[in-house]
Amino acid sequence: MNTHAGHLVSHHAAAHDGGTCRICAKPLKHSFADLGMSPLCESFLPADKLDEMEPFFPLHAYVCDDCFLVQLKEYVSPSHIFTEYAYFSSYSTSWVAHAKSYCEMIKHRLGLGPDSLAVELASNDGYLLQHFIALGVPVLGIEPAANVAKAAIDKGVPTRVEFFGETYAQTLAGEGMMADLIIGNNVLAQVPDVNDFVAGIAQLLKPEGVVTLEFPHIERLMAENQFDTIYHEHFSYFSLGTIEKLAARHRLKVFDVEELPTHGGSIRVYLAHATSTRPLTNRVAGVLGREVARGLRSVDTYTKFDANVRQTKRRLLSFLISAKNAGKRICGYGAPGKGNTLLNYCGIGTDFIDFTVDRNPYKHGRFTPGMHIPIRPVEAIEAARPDYILILPWNLKTEIISQMRFVKDWGAKFIVPIPEVTVIDPKEFRS
Ligand SMILES: [Zn+2]
Repeated sequence: MNTHAGHLVSHHAAAHDGGTCRICAKPLKHSFADLGMSPLCESFLPADKLDEMEPFFPLHAYVCDDCFLVQLKEYVSPSHIFTEYAYFSSYSTSWVAHAKSYCEMIKHRLGLGPDSLAVELASNDGYLLQHFIALGVPVLGIEPAANVAKAAIDKGVPTRVEFFGETYAQTLAGEGMMADLIIGNNVLAQVPDVNDFVAGIAQLLKPEGVVTLEFPHIERLMAENQFDTIYHEHFSYFSLGTIEKLAARHRLKVFDVEELPTHGGSIRVYLAHATSTRPLTNRVAGVLGREVARGLRSVDTYTKFDANVRQTKRRLLSFLISAKNAGKRICGYGAPGKGNTLLNYCGIGTDFIDFTVDRNPYKHGRFTPGMHIPIRPVEAIEAARPDYILILPWNLKTEIISQMRFVKDWGAKFIVPIPEVTVIDPKEFRS
């Protein structure tokens, strides 16, 4: 992905102010995490671009003292980020399995059938809606990236290439389309105008319809120091309390919530019209109560987070400096978006990490944005026999260590950077 000046969103406000909240429009005065200047984390570079200038933007998250939304300014418009998208959800077998079990569960729970309509927003390559088709439930996908939408259409999933919001919901209503179920998995965080998006959801939803939204839970981000999940393409970081406020602005209510292990700890929130007869479950009060107990309705809890981030950086660098002083060789495993936040914020380049490896062939021969660490096929680890392997997609550490257990043959150990730097010897690892 290349960035062109024409796609950049201009800001006329003074440098280093937080702007205004994208839910309630109040001025943002409180810093949550200042990760310095960073390139777009999915902009992997081919070798012939390494000598060119690379755009960097402030990676500075603020928290709103009214609705407690943690957020980044929009520096690059989604029409640039998402029009041609390199991520196909179907590449991840565990994510497709997660989608399948969701479809079976929700069909049963809501009693969906041949007269229902399930709409997924940011439906990607049809990884989820394909399961509803198999279950006899009509579907519509809405996906802004034409290349991934085409993959969905090719497998028989009806898909519109559009950005979703109130205007497009009105267009669908004009065609007589109203949804029994609206699904948004990991999309709300990537929408700059969340009010327009949720207004569109309210418009598209039948009177007794249900919305499910999945997203990483900021409670887990803070508790487990997952600051590397902050990146430019990810504008907003939600608690359940914040979602409840956002929903209420559009006369929607939260009536259920589930906690999920995906993406380092996510929640699935169930919404309905405020006038709906759906009963409220005890789980909502349970999660809201825990958020209050952990201080998520107090701005001080958020402003203290930056100190943890800085400490994690110092500890990781201390470890890497000691290892290099001892003559150790280190490589990376994985080149996920979050790895690039970690590497750029900590300033970890080829002075520490010789190379990293990835399973996605698109990334082979390319270089990580900003730090320019070469990305090779996974087999490169066996050839290089490094002393340490830094796991960048730490949420998959169990799976990766199990697959790479053979590195014990030459005495290599794994480094897991988050929540704090930990060394794991595969000889002693039990999955
Ligand atoms: Zn706000």
